[in-house]
Amino acid sequence: MAMATTPHSLLLQNPNTNFLKNPKTPFATIPMTATRLTTTTTTTTTSTTLNPAKPISVKCSATTTHIQDRSPAQSESQDRVFNFAAGPAVLPEHVLRKAQSELYNWRGSGMSVMEMSHRGKEFLSIIQKAESDLRTLLNIPDEYSVLFLQGGATTQFAAIPLNLCKPDDKVDYLVTGSWGDKAVKEAQKYSNPKVIWSGKSEKYTKIPAFEELEQSADAKYLHICANETIHGVEFKTYPNPKNGLLIADMSSNFCSKPVDVSKFGIIYAGAQKNVGPSGVTIVIIRKDLIGNAQPVTPVMLDYKIQDENKSLYNTPPCYGIYMCGLVFEDLLEQGGLVEIEKKNKRKADILYNAIDGSKGFYRCPVEKSVRSLMNVPFTLEKAELEAEFVKEAAKEKMVQLKGHRSVGGMRASIYNAMPLAGVEKLVAFMKEFQAKHA
Ligand code: PMP
Repeated sequence: MAMATTPHSLLLQNPNTNFLKNPKTPFATIPMTATRLTTTTTTTTTSTTLNPAKPISVKCSATTTHIQDRSPAQSESQDRVFNFAAGPAVLPEHVLRKAQSELYNWRGSGMSVMEMSHRGKEFLSIIQKAESDLRTLLNIPDEYSVLFLQGGATTQFAAIPLNLCKPDDKVDYLVTGSWGDKAVKEAQKYSNPKVIWSGKSEKYTKIPAFEELEQSADAKYLHICANETIHGVEFKTYPNPKNGLLIADMSSNFCSKPVDVSKFGIIYAGAQKNVGPSGVTIVIIRKDLIGNAQPVTPVMLDYKIQDENKSLYNTPPCYGIYMCGLVFEDLLEQGGLVEIEKKNKRKADILYNAIDGSKGFYRCPVEKSVRSLMNVPFTLEKAELEAEFVKEAAKEKMVQLKGHRSVGGMRASIYNAMPLAGVEKLVAFMKEFQAKHA
């Protein structure tokens, strides 16, 4: 049966001919160069049968031209939108193309990464390379373990007190937004947390001066959310907790700038904003903190078990880890996190300047010194126009600009993979919208 070319049939192509020519190429040494495909003809033949005992055979052939495309994150495709979602969020276009090219037959292995045993040599090479590239990116010291886990950052809200505390142990939380608030509520079940500062009464628009903080002398740790995704509040420097242990939820600014990992006991992040698809949670933990879990800790949340088994105690989110690995390679090839931060600052500057320069038509409520480089919340002076703003922007292929349901207004998430062109287009649209409605 001949099938028409569909986006799905295109996914079946494996244009990565290098690996076919030389299947012995070591898995970990293949360069991260995206291949842009221009498909000229595609014939897909399937022979299927209703008899489940009979195998399905799928044959694909495609004529493709290969264009080396290494310009980082320029959205050139006509069929892609600028996606300002807070997460899951935009991924680098050529990472997606690379994944597409390897989807059907990963590097001559004859399998998709989705089909591989997590204990086979192919997947082990993928997870080891992902860890090693992340270590390079963040300059992670040897005294830290890197874990690739599941359950999202939300699961870490519980895992952290379960692993570091006895039920009566005191812990401090600095609450600068909704995610910090959720973290402390979960910690109440497994420890004795104290909110030493909360920005709630000021609608989470600030971060306090650290000297003003009254940290509990006997607290096991101080927990912060390094970037509050909903409120757009980001720590630019970090407090030094009295007992030396700082823990940070970096879900929404992970790998967006260099970080001195040695200042932290634990850094954790859901992947789905800056480094991959949802389903992977990365935990970077100082090794001496491992091994003290409360007896009731579920096996999956016990850092010792996960660490001893190198994140392979059970079946990990293999495909997600592979995607994170591709993103890490891409970030390294862009020059690492110093370069990434420069790009992020430039994008954020353009957007905040447009908001501040709008004579009050647009407004960002967050105090300037702690405005997030990743999530930019803003409101319209004429709130009744907000729905129209979001609708009109979507017509121009700029989507997911509606603010979080808890705060309203608008929010533009401009993670690493959001191209400068996306921010420029948004700013041009904002100016036009203002001219029309001022
Ligand atoms: N922390 C922050 C800062 C977040 O932005 C989010 C998700 N938006 C979470 C925690 C929860 O993450 P998950 O959905 O992966 O559990």
